[in-house]
Amino acid sequence: SKRARLDRFISATTGINRKHVRLLLAKGLVEVDGKVARDIDQIIDQFSHICLEGKVLRANAPSYVMLHKPIGVVSATVDDKHKTVIDLLTRADKTQLHIVGRLDLNTSGLLLLTNDSRWSKRLMSPEHKVAKLYRVTLQNPLDPTYVDAFAKGMYFGYEDITTAPAKLEIVDSHTALVTLIEGRYHQIKRMFGRFRNPVVALHRISVGDIVLDPQLAVGESRELTPAEVNA
Ligand code: URA
Repeated sequence: SKRARLDRFISATTGINRKHVRLLLAKGLVEVDGKVARDIDQIIDQFSHICLEGKVLRANAPSYVMLHKPIGVVSATVDDKHKTVIDLLTRADKTQLHIVGRLDLNTSGLLLLTNDSRWSKRLMSPEHKVAKLYRVTLQNPLDPTYVDAFAKGMYFGYEDITTAPAKLEIVDSHTALVTLIEGRYHQIKRMFGRFRNPVVALHRISVGDIVLDPQLAVGESRELTPAEVNA
């Protein structure tokens, strides 16, 4: 049976640091099996029922989150210059989460976070060919020759790889939809760079069947639905 000290358990399941956990205990905000618990040393096991401010805490509960990433926020858990995507979350367990497929600093749109590394590996592994859809705004007009070049793949000398076939759909003179099944460093910007056509805005719309919720304002996040998790 798995036993743990109460303060460690609360800290591990919520991401709240232990000093703050002590404060919550002192305030009487924690209940174990229906009784207010104030003792950090209390030993609990997998059958204990622990509530923080009325919410049940479960060990290793999986979390899946979608965030509408703003421009100017970095896809990292810590950064000394910029605000991070973790800073935007309010959930208690946010420090336990990792990013599933990062976006550049100046890219906006769908960013997924989870504490379930099996799930994120499946979504990101090249064999699974999960499609990532982006809306791209270009500085110069597009022309139909781009479509073939994206479909054929481009050689990136630095990595010594050829990009996997990518789909480019022209929406209007300066807007395209691009579908990638991989995520090379600055891939979309570099692909348009071949045409000397700078990307002025880049926004991720979807990852596989998970589509950015139009109800989410920039900077907002929500839990994925079970259907989205299993998609
Ligand atoms: N391609 C890029 O260049 N940047 C991103 O953030 C994603 C894809």
